[in-house]
Amino acid sequence: MEPAIRLNDITHAYLGEQAAYLALEKVNLSVMPGEFVSLVGPSGCGKTTLLSIVAGLLVPSRGEAGVLGRPVTGPSPGVGYMLQSDYLFPWRTILDNALLGLELTGRLDEAGREKTRALLADMGLGGKENALPSELSGGMRQRVALVRTLATDPALLLLDEPFSALDYQIKLQLEDLVSETLRRRGTTALLVTHDLSEAIAVSDRVVLLDRNPGRVRRIFEIPASIRQTPPLYARDLPEFAGLFHQVWKEMEQAGQEN
Ligand code: ADP
Ligand code: MG
Repeated sequence: MEPAIRLNDITHAYLGEQAAYLALEKVNLSVMPGEFVSLVGPSGCGKTTLLSIVAGLLVPSRGEAGVLGRPVTGPSPGVGYMLQSDYLFPWRTILDNALLGLELTGRLDEAGREKTRALLADMGLGGKENALPSELSGGMRQRVALVRTLATDPALLLLDEPFSALDYQIKLQLEDLVSETLRRRGTTALLVTHDLSEAIAVSDRVVLLDRNPGRVRRIFEIPASIRQTPPLYARDLPEFAGLFHQVWKEMEQAGQEN
């Protein structure tokens, strides 16, 4: 099977006035269709840089990125990208905000409209279609942004800390909702998070990056027992704590060495 994401020796340097900063060095990673992979690592290790390269928003200095069987040359319609801040338009209703992705890609029709309404209902936003973003809580707005991305039915979803600004309770609910929705649809996902427990709870694999330069330090395979349990309950499994400690220790070392 062709990987949904293929990264070959990705190196990226940011060029400053006086110096270049090596943000990523020789990163190799493949993500298979339907897989959920998280990127974790100390702040500044290049997570967002890597996600931007996969999204086609940034051209790496060296190496090749491939997505859905094609070399990345720019943003692709099969790829959904969701950032930490929600970017809803304040003057558009919730439904019109949620339809924006379809509208921008020229795919807005009656079926798309119906599907988006159904997704809003799935995300607990039924009855809010005509509200404005300012009438909703932060967690609800984040869910609208997620519906907007999911409505285009991306084969690959890239998420950059989508839950980090939310209250803990809402974040746990959303993790469950998102991981369930993506698994049901067979969507491939690459999630950036600084929350190790979130990464372990929702992923099939967790990729730990080193800092300065950003490199793949270690890849943790999540055991089936955790993968098959909804994120909220996975945290209570006896094997969760041991794995968390292992990833945490490795990340602490990654932070200290550089
Ligand atoms: P992370 O998301 O893991 O916190 P980033 O990918 O945002 O890390 O950044 C990786 C490194 O590259 C950091 O040291 C950051 O300061 C640097 N960096 C990010 N964006 C730029 C930029 N546009 N210009 C120069 N340096 C940058
Ligand atoms: Mg980042």
